[in-house]
Amino acid sequence: MARLSLLSCWQLWLKRWMRMAKPQRKPCRACWSRSAIWLLPCAPVFPLRTKPPDDPAQFSPERMSTPYRVFVIGGGPAGLAAAEVLSDAGCVVHVVERMPSLGRKFLMAGRGGLNISHSEAQEKLLARYGAAAPWLAPALAAWTTDDIRHWMSALGQESFIGSSGRVFPKSMKASPLLRAWLARLQQQGVQFHTRVDWTGWDATTGRLSFTPAQGRSDLPPDLVEPCRADAVMLATGGASWPRLGSNGAWVPALQAQGATVVPLQPANCGFRTNWSAVMRDRFAGTPLKPVALRFGDHTVRGEVVVTATGLEGGALYALSGVLRNHISQHGQAELLLDLRPDLSVATLASRLAKVRPRESLSNRLRKALRLPPVVAALLREEGEVPVTPQALAERLKALPVLLTGPESIERAISSAGGVAQAACEANFMLHAKLGVFVAGEMLDWEAPTGGYLLHACLATGRAAAKGALQWLRETRS
Ligand SMILES: Cc1cc2nc3c(=O)[nH]c(=O)nc-3n(C[C@H](O)[C@H](O)[C@H](O)COP(=O)(O)OP(=O)(O)OC[C@H]3O[C@@H](n4cnc5c(N)ncnc54)[C@H](O)[C@@H]3O)c2cc1C
Repeated sequence: MARLSLLSCWQLWLKRWMRMAKPQRKPCRACWSRSAIWLLPCAPVFPLRTKPPDDPAQFSPERMSTPYRVFVIGGGPAGLAAAEVLSDAGCVVHVVERMPSLGRKFLMAGRGGLNISHSEAQEKLLARYGAAAPWLAPALAAWTTDDIRHWMSALGQESFIGSSGRVFPKSMKASPLLRAWLARLQQQGVQFHTRVDWTGWDATTGRLSFTPAQGRSDLPPDLVEPCRADAVMLATGGASWPRLGSNGAWVPALQAQGATVVPLQPANCGFRTNWSAVMRDRFAGTPLKPVALRFGDHTVRGEVVVTATGLEGGALYALSGVLRNHISQHGQAELLLDLRPDLSVATLASRLAKVRPRESLSNRLRKALRLPPVVAALLREEGEVPVTPQALAERLKALPVLLTGPESIERAISSAGGVAQAACEANFMLHAKLGVFVAGEMLDWEAPTGGYLLHACLATGRAAAKGALQWLRETRS
């Protein structure tokens, strides 16, 4: 009796198991007829590519019998983040980078302390992306500041939150993080091809085309025609600091495919103004801090630096989007500098009134308000300097500087413009080119400095890779 019930349990379990595995199993007739099926299940016949689970990032390599071959173009943070998700899922990943080494801009970002994210509440963080916030929201929600900090920690790089809320690695540098990241990607089988330029798609075969770059004489065998890719991830960056690799040369290739690309423009950049020779020669490189900048409804407190051609620095970068757009419409923009943002006009006026009027302007400013000589020079740039303490105090709280245009994109921290949202599906695949996904700074969004740039590059790299996995699952299985 006991043996019978044990047997029926075994039969029941086996039947259930077979029902679950039904689409993937082909039992042979002989097995069925001999009723030995319970004890001798036939070898399962897997489809060419097994279906990944619902979360494409949870693809497991052992379940992908013929791995997908994915090309990631661009070895910056967005491309590497995509490569990580794709290789985690078992894809064969080739990262193609035109420069001799990977992540050059990432390393440059780490020179003054790698500000990789910001700890402010998700809603506030999202607002930093302006009009692009709804587009980026799902990617940013799927890869939060905490996720970034855990990821860094798993790579042996602990992070900390600075007093401003910005997130940095404890080492402050990008190099240990990049080194650990590349080592892990290599362990996962990601193949890196440096000094190779992706030049678009071959007009006849429609396949990716590459050319050796940076002194390389030939292409690696994996990239020689015919170069088959199941999906392509473009993460070629914007156009700022082109000597680090991203130069916007990809724009015509995508436009030729019918993708809308908003012109690349400088973001987080300095602005030009018409300084006198005195200002240029004596004060270029002089910081102004603390200072508050006002333009329209926007006020930003921080630091700017006088350059030979104008102004640059964090506080100005934060206004660069609105200033750039205003100048492109009106030809110029009047920025107001508050040179003692911590004191009211009344306090400034009463302190100025205590200094003898016969003193030089520089001395009055130094003695009454501890302001440096550059402030006197700035006041003189604006024509006649007010004499009365009240008028001088008012000028110091709202000193106009006429900006004539952004500095060139070569000197900008980042670029605005890029692949338009309208050109992409929600999964970051191009409408115009199925199987081609885009991520990082090459997308049409901009954000101030403060860790928002790298955060969105990492987040969109991951989101586009998940989009690619999902698309492969739906179309190639
Ligand atoms: C001086 C400086 C400081 C910065 N500091 C910070 C900071 O503290 N915090 C922050 O959040 N952001 C910072 N940024 C911005 C941040 O570094 C970028 O937003 C980020 O690197 C963009 O990542 P990405 O992967 O999209 O592009 P990139 O990092 O530009 O990478 C794109 C890669 O693609 C390669 N490539 C391009 N075209 C091709 C092609 N046709 N074929 C092959 N390869 C190609 C390029 O060589 C490049 O390596 C800073 C930028 C600069 C310049």
